[in-house]
This record gives sequence, C-alpha cells and structure tokens, in this order.
Amino acid sequence: MGTCLVLPAAGSGSRFGSATPKQLLLLAGVPILRRSLVRFVGLVDAVIIPAPPILHAGIHTALAGVPLPIQLVPGGATRQASVHAGLRACPPQHAWVLVHDAVRPFVPRRCIRACIAALARFDAAVTAVACTDTVKRVDADLPGRVATTVSRDGLWLAQTPQGLRREFALAAFARAESEGWAASDDVQVVERAGGSVAVVPGDRRNLKITTPDDWALAEALCQIMHD
Ligand code: C5P
Repeated sequence: MGTCLVLPAAGSGSRFGSATPKQLLLLAGVPILRRSLVRFVGLVDAVIIPAPPILHAGIHTALAGVPLPIQLVPGGATRQASVHAGLRACPPQHAWVLVHDAVRPFVPRRCIRACIAALARFDAAVTAVACTDTVKRVDADLPGRVATTVSRDGLWLAQTPQGLRREFALAAFARAESEGWAASDDVQVVERAGGSVAVVPGDRRNLKITTPDDWALAEALCQIMHD
C-alpha cells in the first residue's frame, strides 16, 4: 500500500513577518522545508508540495538531493484549498496520504509510522497531544476577560502529520468545497463527512514554527532532536 506525502507550503507567513518565506528560511543552516521533508524519507513513496509558482524554483533548490519523487503544484488561498490541490495531485496508485505542515521540522518518525499504521483500520488519523494546561474561553465581545473555564478532560491538541485514505478524502474535500465547510485541520473534513478518525500520540516537541517567538525555541530543538 503506497503512501503519498502532501507538504503544504503555500502560507503567506504573515504572523512571522520575514521577507524570505518562512518555509525557506535556514534553521541551523538547513531550510525548514527540507528539515520537515527529510523526516519522511524511507516512510513515504512520493511527495506533493502545494506552493506558489513563484517559489517553485527556490523550493527545488532547497530540496536538491532529497531521495524522493517530488512534484510541486500551485497552492490555494487557504490551507484547506492547498491540501485539496495536493490531494488531487497524488498518484492514484498510492491509497494513503499523509499531510504535514511544511513548518514542523521536528516531527518524530514514530508519529509518522503511527499515522500510517492507523490507516489500516481508520479513514483518517490525527497526531495529537493531550491538553495539559487549563483552558479558558475569552469571548470576542469581552476581550481581556475570562468568560468561562473549559474542562480539559478529553481535550487533545491536533498536530501533523495527519493521515487520510485518499479516495475517502478526495470525496470529502470535494464536498467541503461545494458545501463551503471551513476546517482548520485535515481530518476535520473526514469527520464531517462521517469517516472514522484515529488519534495517535504526538509529541510536544513537534513545534509548528508560526511566530518569531518560535524561532529561538526551534534553534534550541535543533540541538536536542536527533530522532
Ligand atoms: O497558516 P498555518 O500556520 O496553519 O499553516 C500551516 C501550513 O499550511 C504551513 O506549512 C503553510 O505553508 C500551509 N498553508 C498553505 N496554504 C495556505 C495557508 C497555509 O499551504 N493558503
């Protein structure tokens, strides 16, 4: 059973605020996108990267020599649209798809293996960590003031990779597009379409580099993450 990786890299990086697109910034000398991709070498069979065409040449350079077949496609206006574009480009001989944020360079390989293994029994799988902090809800109409405390029992924080059975996901993402569902992660689309979704153990070090504050943490993680 072949597995295709979709690595969405079409974000604008507006919360990061650097001139170079975040996914191509060098982290301890290596582009973030390359660090994220090499975690999957030996575990997937093909890679689709949704990204703006203007970045394609730079991405090919950043990924030179990575031993995987890589295809670049244009991304979309939202992460969901970029993932949908990636899904449509996945070769049909690969029944399983993993989606991984281009800006999560520290994903442990055991998380990738767990996601793939779960697809034998579920339509989709999400890497996630149990919520350890107390959760407060702050309403938009009363900013700066706690409205309520949400019980954290049973709450998990979603990360990537997320695994999808390709055919189920293609139908679900097409339905999402035509019916206007907006999902903030990939398996949500499968959930809404009635599919079964497994949760597999994530890792608190599986950082998504989002804001400038994450940079120092990412540099420190480079020193301690060896697998
Ligand atoms: O915006 P967010 O932090 O959720 O982005 C997560 C991942 O989705 C990043 O790798 C980003 O490049 C990608 N993305 C995308 N297309 C968009 C928005 C985000 O591929 N329109």
